[in-house]
Amino acid sequence: MLFNQIHKEAAVEKYIPKSVENLNEAEIERKRKHILLMTQVLYFLTNEFLSRKFQWLLPVIFSKSTDPLWPDPGASIEKRIETDVYETQVRTTLSMIVHKMVACSLFAERLFVISPNFRVERRERASTGWHAYEFNQLDFEMRDATSRDVMRTVEEVLTGLAKYVGDKCEYLIDSEVYDALKDVRGPFEIRDRDFLVSEYGDNWEEVLPKEIKRPVWVVNIPREFYDFEDFETGRWDNYDLYVPKYGEILSGARREFEYEKIVAKMERDGIRKENYSVLLKLSRDGKLKRSSGAGIGIERLVTWISGAHHVCETQLFPRVPGIVYEL
Ligand code: ASP
Ligand code: MG
Repeated sequence: MLFNQIHKEAAVEKYIPKSVENLNEAEIERKRKHILLMTQVLYFLTNEFLSRKFQWLLPVIFSKSTDPLWPDPGASIEKRIETDVYETQVRTTLSMIVHKMVACSLFAERLFVISPNFRVERRERASTGWHAYEFNQLDFEMRDATSRDVMRTVEEVLTGLAKYVGDKCEYLIDSEVYDALKDVRGPFEIRDRDFLVSEYGDNWEEVLPKEIKRPVWVVNIPREFYDFEDFETGRWDNYDLYVPKYGEILSGARREFEYEKIVAKMERDGIRKENYSVLLKLSRDGKLKRSSGAGIGIERLVTWISGAHHVCETQLFPRVPGIVYEL
């Protein structure tokens, strides 16, 4: 009752999740439901990846090298957090992509890590309902896999997850979403970004979620050096997954591994090569392996499944762009 009531009120105005100490009784109840659902989602996902023989790695927070998040048409970072550790300049993790590629090449053919990503989004993004300045990603990587292998893995995992939460967590989910989840079944439709731009214009990212009833892959997205680009055709072998009503919940790609190509892309994009010397040395020595992978935004995934109004509702301690609470 209370759950639905808040739901309706929230639909009317742009809902900005409050800090824990300011929640009323109904909001506390709603938060409890999100926590229960988050627990079930993490339980399912970690079991699923473990049963597929992935190694579970722990995250790092500070490094000299992290995801440049550039060039990326979707990124809107206000500030990159830099600090000193032992008089050495480090950045907080923007994503574990570089560590993931190194670990997958040297240690673990299949791996995943649930890592906090710090992306200080521009404050206007507070009310998109889809951005948080700190979130967690289930980042995974598969050696020798193609992008099709990753897409199939994601389709299987999400089909299983939709069924699992449908069976176990009906009382935690908005009823409309509950019906839609029954329809989640791979393979998901694939759309080319060029086609979406010509069809819907530059704001296709806002239009697409309103048009679709099931998750949809978007492929061929120009962005960071680590995603595979075919220099002859100009096509990118990468993919994002979009879910109805909300938007993107996952990004991934087949990776670049050839030294000359990586260097050429870094120079073209103005990326500081000295921040990626480990990756570059591995590729120069032929030790960077072919792989593909992806990162799933956990809070976004739970937002979609729960029918929440704002991604930060799924966080016990909300990280709303532009708003810093005490906890
Ligand atoms: N972790 C990557 C990112 O945040 C996703 C991936 O390409 O695996 O962009
Ligand atoms: Mg990326």
